[in-house]
Amino acid sequence: MSAHREREERLRELNERLSALASTDSLTGLTNRRAFDNALAKATGPGRRLSLLMIDVDRFKAYNDGYGHLEGDECLRQVAERLAEAFGLVYGAVAARYGGEEFTVLLPSVDLDEARSLALMTCNSVRALSIPHAFSEKGVVTVSVGIAATTGGSPREILRAADAGLYAAKAAGRGCVRAASEAEGQRQA
Ligand code: GH3
Ligand code: MG
Ligand code: MG
Repeated sequence: MSAHREREERLRELNERLSALASTDSLTGLTNRRAFDNALAKATGPGRRLSLLMIDVDRFKAYNDGYGHLEGDECLRQVAERLAEAFGLVYGAVAARYGGEEFTVLLPSVDLDEARSLALMTCNSVRALSIPHAFSEKGVVTVSVGIAATTGGSPREILRAADAGLYAAKAAGRGCVRAASEAEGQRQA
């Protein structure tokens, strides 16, 4: 290879590594919020079906205060690893760290029922990590999950709906799954 070609090749590799870094969350290795927002924008549009999960670690402030920030970081890594394992197997899924102790999962072509099953699996697999959490009523680290499904909705609409579901899951006692339409006392998710 000529010196010129070699330089071009090195530059190309460097660019690839840079763009991978720019779309990755440094703590967990999951997709970061910026790249997630791009993926969501691409997945939405007229007639496009998709679901979204919004996942939030329960009583995480108390976890940090009780065990320290470094343990908190380790907990987030373990939760993220479960998400990467679970959704790495789902075609087209993008699991991201949306910020702090909040994760999102984009599920293209997935309806609400299927999203609910995947969300329940997620709750169970985090609980099965059995990470002790003496400052939570659950005794172990758990997550709450808000789910939303749409055909043709905008990114803003589906994010808002999943967030409303998450709020309902927190209100229903945490460690559970709710869709936006399911206020407390209504249909069990
Ligand atoms: P809830 O059950 O209602 O979700 O309560 P919570 O305590 O989890 O919610 P809150 O939003 O009050 O606390 C989130 C905490 O997450 C606060 C902050 O200290 C912690 N946090 C956010 N980002 C990080 C991080 O990168 N590392 C660590 N260790 N902690 C973080
Ligand atoms: Mg939160
Ligand atoms: Mg939380």
